[in-house]
Amino acid sequence: MSLVMRELSLFLKDVKRKINLSAEANANRTDPVYVRVDEKRINENYKRIIPASLSMVFVEICGTLYNLTNRIDSVFLYLYIGCFAVLLVTTIVTLCLIEKTLRAGTVNLRVQKRVTGFFWIVCTVSLISCSFFEAVDTGTLFQYLIYLISFTLWPTFKPNFAVPYYLVAFTAQLGYMVYAYTPFISIIFMFGMTVFCVVGNYIKFAAYMDKNLAIEKLELLAEYDTLTRLLNRRGMRKRSGLLMDYSARVHSPVTVAMVDVDFFKSYNDTYGHKAGDRCLQLVAGCIRQNFRRRTDLSCRYGGEEFLIVFVSQAQKEAADSLLHLQKDIERMGLHAGDTSLSPYVTVSIGAVCTTVNLDDDIGTYIQKADENLYRAKQEGRNRICLNGEFYRRTPEG
Ligand code: GH3
Ligand code: MG
Ligand code: MG
Repeated sequence: MSLVMRELSLFLKDVKRKINLSAEANANRTDPVYVRVDEKRINENYKRIIPASLSMVFVEICGTLYNLTNRIDSVFLYLYIGCFAVLLVTTIVTLCLIEKTLRAGTVNLRVQKRVTGFFWIVCTVSLISCSFFEAVDTGTLFQYLIYLISFTLWPTFKPNFAVPYYLVAFTAQLGYMVYAYTPFISIIFMFGMTVFCVVGNYIKFAAYMDKNLAIEKLELLAEYDTLTRLLNRRGMRKRSGLLMDYSARVHSPVTVAMVDVDFFKSYNDTYGHKAGDRCLQLVAGCIRQNFRRRTDLSCRYGGEEFLIVFVSQAQKEAADSLLHLQKDIERMGLHAGDTSLSPYVTVSIGAVCTTVNLDDDIGTYIQKADENLYRAKQEGRNRICLNGEFYRRTPEG
């Protein structure tokens, strides 16, 4: 007995821990990681309509066949079949909508929410109505259980959406049962089932959020540089493939630029490694500010080297963007370690701007950008070498 109690207390502790974790996750709703996980949850709910609706229709077909053979005299038979017809039509309409939107590629989040809401609300209305006829007719709760179990099993809904949903169904069902003089024990059973499903839904939601927040955070750690919060090489490699494919398809030139801080060793030697780290963070901040379109990618390639990949219209436009970045970095006014070039920290940039093909590897362009960076350094630093041509800011900026 003590073993059973111990297991029970461990289980309750686990539930409590999940509730706390999920409260933490809920509290941080503007956190981009939370937003991403939540979007993933909505998308999964959207796709889960497919097996959910098919399994419900299967159960309903079996139920209808049973009714047609066994309840032929019931006054509710046609109403009951009518409710099932509503469920069937809803399922067909929803599956067509899903098919259409999935075919179109990425599905808008609002569309996903609306279709999911539409499906579950109509299902509930239809199943709760069936459940009413069944409760009045035979006093059984089969339909109500189908509704509860499918709602708990298939989607992962937030408690603030799910709990009112359960409550409305429960109240409606309770009304029917009182009206139908259902035995008290059935009401207790129904109440117990509802509470069980509410708790089950909550644990499922909390477990989903915990697991996916942890995965998302690990992925972030694996793809971002901790010092500068820019992508690391791994993250860049993963995302640049998509960008290159997109540019190849729309025939838009891509610029790959390697940015290297000038005389950074002297900066470290003069101000210390900690100040060096701070300098790298500020340079990274400038890069982020200058390249913040959704298609811009920037990464810390290594030590004091950064890689930027962006879609540009032409070489001139690319040069202007890079000159602007150079200006912003110098204008931060970080005192340089070696002042022979400029009193402030500067960067040299090597870049290529080119149209790409679908099977091109970004590695080739990174190598070319690196060669151009070497030439910019050779030519005297604090300048850009883009496709072999040199660009320098005029003294006015
Ligand atoms: P150049 O103008 O030719 O690029 O000269 P440089 O001194 O910048 O280049 P070099 O490659 O000789 O030195 C790079 C320095 O960057 C050496 C290394 O100590 C420093 N470094 C690399 N990673 C970090 C880091 O994460 N933090 C700090 N503070 N320094 C770093
Ligand atoms: Mg370097
Ligand atoms: Mg350097």
